Formats: sequence, C-alpha cells, structure tokens
Amino acid sequence: MLLAPAKREDPLKPIYFDHNATTPVAPEVLAAMLPFFSDHFGNPSSVHAAGAEVADALARARSSVARLIGARSPREIVFTSGGTESIQTALHSARCLRPEARRIVSSSLEHAAVLAPLDELGQHGFEALLVDADSEGGVDLDRILSLLDADPSAAQIAFVSLMAVNNETGVVTDIKALAQVSAACRARDIPFHVDAVQRAGKLPIKVADIGCDLLSISSHKIYGPKGCGALWVRPGFKLSPLLLGGPQEGDRRAGTENTAAIVGMGAAAEAAMTYLADEGARERTKALRDQFENGLLACLPGTRVHGGRSVRVDSVSNLGFEGASGEAIVMLLSEYGLCASTGSACSSGNHGASHVLLGMGLDVEQAQGAVRFSLGRTSTQAEVDRALELVPRAVKELRSLAP
Ligand code: PLP
Repeated sequence: MLLAPAKREDPLKPIYFDHNATTPVAPEVLAAMLPFFSDHFGNPSSVHAAGAEVADALARARSSVARLIGARSPREIVFTSGGTESIQTALHSARCLRPEARRIVSSSLEHAAVLAPLDELGQHGFEALLVDADSEGGVDLDRILSLLDADPSAAQIAFVSLMAVNNETGVVTDIKALAQVSAACRARDIPFHVDAVQRAGKLPIKVADIGCDLLSISSHKIYGPKGCGALWVRPGFKLSPLLLGGPQEGDRRAGTENTAAIVGMGAAAEAAMTYLADEGARERTKALRDQFENGLLACLPGTRVHGGRSVRVDSVSNLGFEGASGEAIVMLLSEYGLCASTGSACSSGNHGASHVLLGMGLDVEQAQGAVRFSLGRTSTQAEVDRALELVPRAVKELRSLAP
C-alpha cells in the first residue's frame, strides 16, 4: 500500500514510545533475576537448602509486590503468569461465589482479558451489562451504581469488574468513585474486581483506598519480565483456583513457580515504588508527554487528543490524525525508527478501529486514525525532539497520498 520500502532514516536506536504494550526489563530487575537461572535453581517447595533459599526469595518478592499496592500482608498476593491469568482467576472465583447470579456488571472500555471471558460467559447463560464510556474515555460510574441500585436484592448480579486505568487512552478511573462502587458491592455481597494492570507503577494505588475484593496487576507493564503477574485477594475472600494440582501459592495457584520471573517482579515493584516516590521523575515524564502532545497539536492541524480532558496517567497520549490511518502511521513510524501502537487489535469487522474509541463516540474512520504513544521512565528530551520531527513527517506523507 502506501508504505515506501523499508529504509531506516536514523542510525540511532529506535525510539520506544509503546510502554503500555510492554516495558523493557529494568537493569536492576535483570540483575536480580539472573542468579535464579543458575545458582539458585531450587524448587521452592523442596524442604532442603536449595529450595529454601528460593522460597525466601519468593517471600521477599511477595512482600515487595504487596507493598506496591498497599496490601496489609504478603499472603494476600497470588503470583500468576500475568495480568490475563490474574483477571481470569478473579472472574472465575467471583462467579463461583454466586452460582445462581447471571448478570455481570462491567464497562465496554475493558481490556480483552476481561471482555473475552465475559463474551464466553454470555454463551453459558450470563448477561454482561457493559456501561459505556463518556466522550472523554471515562467510565460512567453513576451508571454502574444505578445498575446495582436497580437490583436491590442484588441476587442477579454475579460480580462487577472495572479497570483502574484504560490501556489505550491512559484515562484514570477515579479511586473515590471505585471506592463507592466497592461499598455498594460490599453492601450487597457482590464480588468486585479491579484491573489495575495499567495503573500499577504509573500512579500510586492502595487496595484499602478502593475496598475491592480482587485486584490484578502484571509484571511486564512495570519493567519486570513477561509471563508473571499478581492477583491481590482480600483476606477472607474465597478464591477458586483456575489451576489445580499442587499446594503452591497457598493452594491458590498450582504449578511450580516461575521463580526467576517472580523475583524479577519483586525487584520491579521495588523500582516502581522508588519511581512513584520521586515526584521529580514523574513530573519529568508528564512534561515530556505534554511537550510531545502540544508540539503535535501546534504543527499538525486535524489532530485530536482522545481523552485529553480527562485525568490521564502521565505517560500516555492517544492521538487522532485526520486523513491518515493509524495503522499506516504506526508502520511508517516504525520504518523511521519510532515504535508506537494503534492500541487495538483488529476486531469485529472494524478493521482495527478500537472498541474503546468507538465506545467514546468516535466514528470508525476517526477511530482508525488513532495512534497511542506511551512514554516511559527512560524516555528523553532528545527522543521527544526527534519524535516531533518524525510524527509530522509521517502524517504529512500519508495525507499527501490520501485520495
Ligand atoms: N489489562 C490491561 C488493562 C492491559 O493493558 C493488559 C495488557 O495489555 C492486560 C490486562 C493483560 O495483561 P498481560 O499482558 O500481563 O496478560
């Protein structure tokens, strides 16, 4: 199609502005993990010294992850294979608690890791009540509350699941509003799960401030390794494991632990706490993102910021470029040496139009023009300066080719 043959314009390392997709493993995380591929190879369930030293390391990692989300005890953390498994363990457990209930309350903005299991449950007699986004990408939490109110006996609602930060727009769900939903759920004995995969490490989060029953996070979004995540479980909440067959994780997730990855996630949680405590570092990320966004708005007419009037995490900018396809922009930028994302997989015949942006009221063409740029802790001024040359160049080139 429109794209010129592959020709990298810049010999420099590609600029990576796709930290919402995944983050690099931080050097201190890698250093913490390496001995667990060699010297410390024991099985943490073994009673001998080789096992015990690894069990100790897992206990330390558990404690770090617990502190990152303000859990009272490390025992509240169950390590999993990632955000997707944490979420699906949560939804499965929530559903098992109220077997007669057939309605699920959530939002149409959720990640596929939530929406796909809800779809699946739809084929087994469940009905998902998905609250829409407002035009700025926020979940209408009053609508969630009114759904709970509309069913005072609450007998029909199996569980509620909501995201804390949207992965495509970076729009933040207000913690106080989540706490209100939590209180309403608690009053009706309805389990409440929060997908905090995109909040952890970017903004502080304390499970006690929300008051939910279950909360999911992922290691590879916080500069830890892929294939590792954590599910926080409120003390007293009865978890129904997805994986059976062993006593690991306090009988809540069978299978020999991914020890190096868990140690890595623990180190990543420590690094995330350091970052979150460093106001200067967070302000720097926000200043770079704002400069990038404002620079593009100033030099590229027909650019809009999706969710720009909402509270967003400091690092994310989801932009729509009139007259150019997001997919083509992302591909051309990749040739120029800048990694970004459309933020959405192809789905439901909309050829890559994001369900989140469509849910915010954009038409298919507008949604197809969107590109998500997500900066990270190591993003630099030089990268932003360069990106401010590359993005306008790519968009102008594609616009000039448009019929
Ligand atoms: N939830 C959200 C909001 C996400 O952004 C992602 C990943 O992009 C997930 C869940 C799934 O996490 P994982 O990739 O660790 O399975």
